[in-house]
Amino acid sequence: MKKILLLLATALAAQSGYAQIQPCGTDEMRQQLLAEHPELLQFEAELEKQLEAGMRQFDFRTAAKTTAVDQTDNPNFWYDIPIVIHIIHDYNPYSTSTFNGDYIPDDFIFKTVNDWNIVFAKKNADTADVIPPFKKYIGNARIRLHLATKDPNGNPTKGITRRRSYLTYNGGNDAKFDGWSPTSYINLWFINKMSAANNNAAAYAYKPAAATYIPFYDGVISLAGYMNNGSKTMPHELGHVLNLSHTWGDNNQPGNACGDDNVDDTPPTRGHPTTGCTFASLYDTVCCTNYYKLYTNALGELYIVNYPDTANSQNIMDYTYCDKMFTKGQVYRMHQALNSNIAGRNNLWDSTNLVMTGALMPMPDLKPIPDFSVVNISGGSYLAKNANFAFPDKEIRFINQTQNDTLDALNWTFTNGASSPTSTSTTNFTNSFSEPGWVTVTMKATGNNTGDTTVVFDKSVYVTERTGYNTVAGYFQEFNESGDRNKWPMFNYYNNEFKWQYASVGAFDNASLMYKGYDERVTATSSPITGSPKGDFDDVFSLPVDLTGWGGACNLNFFYSGASRSSISTAINDSLFIDYTINKGTTWTSLAKLGKSDLFNKGTITTPYTPTSTADWEPKTIALPTAAITNYTTFRFRYKPGAGSNGVTSSGNNFYMDRIHFASWPASASDIKAGVASVAIVPNPTVGDAWVIVSDATNTTAAITVTDITGKVVYSAEQAVKGTQARILIPSAHIAAKGIYLIQTVTGSQMNTQKLVVY
Ligand SMILES: [Zn+2]
Repeated sequence: MKKILLLLATALAAQSGYAQIQPCGTDEMRQQLLAEHPELLQFEAELEKQLEAGMRQFDFRTAAKTTAVDQTDNPNFWYDIPIVIHIIHDYNPYSTSTFNGDYIPDDFIFKTVNDWNIVFAKKNADTADVIPPFKKYIGNARIRLHLATKDPNGNPTKGITRRRSYLTYNGGNDAKFDGWSPTSYINLWFINKMSAANNNAAAYAYKPAAATYIPFYDGVISLAGYMNNGSKTMPHELGHVLNLSHTWGDNNQPGNACGDDNVDDTPPTRGHPTTGCTFASLYDTVCCTNYYKLYTNALGELYIVNYPDTANSQNIMDYTYCDKMFTKGQVYRMHQALNSNIAGRNNLWDSTNLVMTGALMPMPDLKPIPDFSVVNISGGSYLAKNANFAFPDKEIRFINQTQNDTLDALNWTFTNGASSPTSTSTTNFTNSFSEPGWVTVTMKATGNNTGDTTVVFDKSVYVTERTGYNTVAGYFQEFNESGDRNKWPMFNYYNNEFKWQYASVGAFDNASLMYKGYDERVTATSSPITGSPKGDFDDVFSLPVDLTGWGGACNLNFFYSGASRSSISTAINDSLFIDYTINKGTTWTSLAKLGKSDLFNKGTITTPYTPTSTADWEPKTIALPTAAITNYTTFRFRYKPGAGSNGVTSSGNNFYMDRIHFASWPASASDIKAGVASVAIVPNPTVGDAWVIVSDATNTTAAITVTDITGKVVYSAEQAVKGTQARILIPSAHIAAKGIYLIQTVTGSQMNTQKLVVY
């Protein structure tokens, strides 16, 4: 596995812009933490002191302590430790041969945990290949990892959690939102890809001193590809959890300078990069020629231990691909960590904790948890995974993702005129729907001797309208409850708090569409609620519209109001992608990508933003290309929230859209021909009332119609006019939103249209 990944990494590194995957990011993450918490050094020093106090009683001649203070050296004592595996995934199937994907199956997890235990019991067969100088130093860690059978609430579990998140592609501490108490369980998270902030590491962990500062992040996070049994990445990372350093010290630059790890039987070394088991690595003597240590035993006698004059390149805490062993000194150091209260490591194997976590209990037989994902068959840039916007009669594929038990049977039922109203497939099958609306999917999963579980999914698939809505008569989506907003389905694909929802404020009424971009999380170190928004996206789809009646020129118009949460311009990364399809979702074409300058008309607001007056709204007009003007065009509004400068909270605040409309009104009102000179609008521009002045009118009436940029009539009036200057009021309440209005004035047989700018 490592070799495959190395080849891949080398190939990627050859292209510019890709960084090579590093085996372990533990040291970088410690450095980042140290920068934020310099006092961490003190804790590390304290732990070292505790360790050394124990070490002085350790006689390396006999490899047995003269005074037994704990179970560290009892060859019959095993450290039983509860663990929990968190699978952060996007339903990407996991291959147990190439280790690609992220949805790791239970059985593979069971097998792999067993493989780690083989290493921690010194039963891995490759210890036979340890070179002669180190054979006598191979340590038996006597550690047994157990998948917990009770969760923190005491409910039965298999010690595995699954959560779908975009953070599987952008992993790091923020993906650790579902950790269990780290003093009761060692948490291990598995993801698809690390974020750049985590140095493209394959995995990293926190040593106990660092973990005391950030208990939420304590544990191991790793690429799903490194869980595999052929690799000792997890024993390496768990070594860090139990306070082991890299053999060359606490940095991530193997092969540079001679260093030490405070473990005597791992000789000083420069360490070795991931270059494979070369002779040069195996018999590297650069830093350890004539290496020995002097000790005083408990009786006050001095003695010397002549350690090998060769680096221990086969050590699991080196980076070589020859990793086969921990040394006895490392085992001792791990045991010391397990007997220390720093980060509560001594509680992990405490007998009460073992009962509480059910660590020593047999794996329970649990009922299945029905689940499924959906993918488009006909293409489209996004496979919707567990939620889908579907067109009538278009086939989509349903994939069984049921977990937790071996299935005896699975029964699916579907509403909405499904082509397959029922199915018993345990793998995948296609289906299509003739009736618009939300499809109800019911799954009944029958486990092996555990009974059945039925789950009703009522908002996973939305089937849109069969024909395009004729917009010429005027179509305004105001997101009022009384309108047809339910035909504009919203998808919160990753089921988090960044999402589209209805708001009870609007540009001209009390309703609008809102993207909730402000999450309530306060600081970077508080308990994660959702995690970084980076990588998330959420969609709203329009109903299909018929735009052919507009004579070949048509705009998408709407009002918007938004603010950024971050005040650092370069850290504002929110964007709204507007795409359209004219072929029932087979392809989506980009219409516009709106960034901060298009979205955040209200500047920076650090509290959750709500518009309070019509003046907070701005009009927006996007001219449609000819290709988009069909009798069945559907629009997709995809919001991608950005992460602020701290990488954790959102960069954007709440964003609102309202009065979405399709019309032939020109994109810019300057295109409108000036009317006859006898009509003027004053003042123009205005911030309050405005008047239409009709000059030299004979006895007649004037009818005025005021429309906003979307074509919606916001005011109309008719009154008698006569004299040199007749005035007709346009009350400010009707033109409160700033932007451009069109004023149509009809006097007798004359019609005049002028623009009015409200600022
Ligand atoms: Zn490491």
